[in-house]
Amino acid sequence: MKKVTKAAALVLTMAMMVSTLVACGDSADATTDAANTETTASDDAAAETAGTEAEASDTTAMTKTEGVITFGTNAEFPPFEFVASSGVIDQYDGIDMAIAKQIAEENGMTAAVENMEFDSLLIALQNGQIDAAIAGMTVTEERLESVDFSTPYYTATQVMIVKEDSDIASAADMADKKICVVQGYTGEICVKDMGYPYEAFKKGTEAVMELVNGKCDVVVIDSATAQKYISDNEGLKIVEDSAAFESEEYAIAVKKGNTALLDMINKAIEAKLADGTISELGVKYTEETTIE
Ligand code: GLN
Repeated sequence: MKKVTKAAALVLTMAMMVSTLVACGDSADATTDAANTETTASDDAAAETAGTEAEASDTTAMTKTEGVITFGTNAEFPPFEFVASSGVIDQYDGIDMAIAKQIAEENGMTAAVENMEFDSLLIALQNGQIDAAIAGMTVTEERLESVDFSTPYYTATQVMIVKEDSDIASAADMADKKICVVQGYTGEICVKDMGYPYEAFKKGTEAVMELVNGKCDVVVIDSATAQKYISDNEGLKIVEDSAAFESEEYAIAVKKGNTALLDMINKAIEAKLADGTISELGVKYTEETTIE
C-alpha cells in the first residue's frame, strides 16, 4: 500500500471508525457500528420492504439491464467523480467511479454510468433509470425515507473555503458574509439550518469561481472536495469548525427494497474497507488528480 501523506491523511477519514448519520447540528441517533454492519439503518429499512426481491439470487432481478450495474452520479465532485480525458468508466474518473467499476467486475458484471444533476439521483433510482447512485452522497434521514443506503465507505465534514486573507474563523463568522453553496448538497442544508442567507449554484466550480472573483466571501462544501479546489486555485484556504459541522458519511444508494443489489454492494464495500482498497483509492485520487 502506498504511503499515506499528510495531505491525504487530512482528507481521508475512513468510515470504519466513527459513524454519525447527518451533517450540521441535526445529528440523528442512528449510528452505525462498523463491527456490526449487518444491522445498519439501511439494512433494516430494506428488510421491511424486501418482499420477494429478498429471495432473488440471480443478477437479472436486481439491475435494469442483465449483467450491467447502471450507476448514477454527478461528475462534478472531485476527487470522487469528475470528467477526465480517459476515466475508469468511459470519461468518468474518481474514487467513486473506481469503486463502482470494481463492485461490478468482481461480481462478473460491467459498470455503466449515467451522469446527471445531483438533485435528480434519488428520483432516477426510484423510477428505475439507474440501479445505484454513487456520488459522494451523504446518508441523511430525509434521503433514507426514499432510498436504501449501503454500508458507509467514507467520512467527511462540511468546511468553509475562504480567501487567504479572510477574517472568517468559525461558522458564526459567516453571519454577515455572502455565502455560496451548491444546490442540494448537505452544505446547503447546513447553511439553511443555521439560518443564514446564501446563494446556491449548480456546480461546485461555479461557487468557487464566485469566491475567487470576490463575489462571495465563503463557500461551504464537503472537505475532500474543498481540498481539491484549494489546491487547484491560488489564494484560498479551508476553515474548519467541527462544532458547527458534524461528520457525515458517504454511502451508495439503491432503490428501496433492492436487497439483492444492496447485499452485493455491502459485501464489496466491507471487503474494500477491510483490505485498504478504498483508502488507497483516496490517496491516489487526492494526490494525482488534475481536474480538467
Ligand atoms: N456529500 C454531499 C451531499 O450528499 C455532496 C455530494 C455531491 O455533491 N456529490 O449532499
